[in-house]
Amino acid sequence: MSLLLEHQAPCPFCHEPVTFFIDPSQDEQTYIEDCTVCCRPIEVTAQCDPDSGELLNVDVGRS
Ligand SMILES: [Zn+2]
Repeated sequence: MSLLLEHQAPCPFCHEPVTFFIDPSQDEQTYIEDCTVCCRPIEVTAQCDPDSGELLNVDVGRS
């Protein structure tokens, strides 16, 4: 089962709220997602608890 969690955070470039989809089956992941507003690449680092499927922490930064 791969249920993605939604997390909203401000884009580090344009500061508009952007929704990210995080896979909670991985305990730590880093990926690049283009901002839906300004199209610049956002580096997303997410920490999850795969056992409970909870999102623990999300950091967004300029890649
Ligand atoms: Zn942006």
